[in-house]
Amino acid sequence: MQEHQLIDPYKRHLNYLRISITDRCNLRCIYCNPRLPKEKLRHKDVLRYEEILRIARIGVSMGINKIRITGGEPLVRKGCCKFLENLSTIEGLKDISLTTNGVFLKQYIDRIAAAGVKRLNISLDTLNPEKFQRITGDNVFKQVWEGIELALQRGFAPIKLNVVVINGVNDDDLIQLAELSFKYPFHIRFIELMPIGKTSMLDGNPLLVPEIMKKVRILGDLIPVQKDKNDGPAVRYKFKDAMGEIGFISPVSNHFCKECNRLRLTADGHILTCLLSDICEDIKTPLRLGLLDDDLKSVFLKAVARKPFQHPENLTSLAQPEQMVSIGG
Ligand code: SAM
Repeated sequence: MQEHQLIDPYKRHLNYLRISITDRCNLRCIYCNPRLPKEKLRHKDVLRYEEILRIARIGVSMGINKIRITGGEPLVRKGCCKFLENLSTIEGLKDISLTTNGVFLKQYIDRIAAAGVKRLNISLDTLNPEKFQRITGDNVFKQVWEGIELALQRGFAPIKLNVVVINGVNDDDLIQLAELSFKYPFHIRFIELMPIGKTSMLDGNPLLVPEIMKKVRILGDLIPVQKDKNDGPAVRYKFKDAMGEIGFISPVSNHFCKECNRLRLTADGHILTCLLSDICEDIKTPLRLGLLDDDLKSVFLKAVARKPFQHPENLTSLAQPEQMVSIGG
């Protein structure tokens, strides 16, 4: 078996790579891709699929065994399904998952399944179509919901529904969203709003996990679910007799950095070591200069050596220049 080489200075084994294949998105979610003028990456600055595959292959040879594809919106990039298919041929890669806003799921679900993707994360912040439009900027709730139902029929499991909780916007939708877990095997994941990017919406009081838990407990006791070693930062629960689960992710109120096993590859070819830090290594330039795999491995090792132990203590005062849509979540 290949020796795991991606161990950071704090002895964390980094086996999970999140790849953003595009910074473009068809939606303009208020917390992620605010409606401000923002320059998109130039076509030539975006990694080509074959470049991403080479970097992924190198990562896997060093110990990555889980890859999540994200964006922007990954399904807006032409050729995404073929890329997923090629990605799944990488030997040693055990798990490929996809994060999507769900708008194009209906169109691509069979190809996504055929490519070997089993796990989907879909953003769904409300079940109210009008509010959905207010949050995302587009009247596509029905399309997204039908996509989610189709994914369920096709056997994707688990299907995680990501709810970013925004005080004063969807705090009154949380119970209805949590209720879905009784009828469907979905994992509903309530995520604290991270103060990323410049958006006026971040000025208010964020609703934090203890408060969110209090709200959904109205539906019944939350029974803890045993954490799996491959779990992400969500703390998992279940209502009695429910088919699905409820998860809480608390990047603001409770850092989970000490268990972080992640690296990120941005659409413009940087290995990013932490969602909330700009410490990164450029891997595109050496790749395009024609350097060998061993040289590109050194770029991975350099990034890993610089991974911070944790993101800043006081997230609410963070002045992030980036928007989440550029990083991929
Ligand atoms: N377009 C895809 C989507 O909508 O899921 C993938 C990209 S999006 C950046 C990935 C995830 O980032 C979303 O599911 C959302 O939960 C999370 N996200 C975006 N902005 C966030 C914020 N300000 N705070 C917390 N989570 C955020």
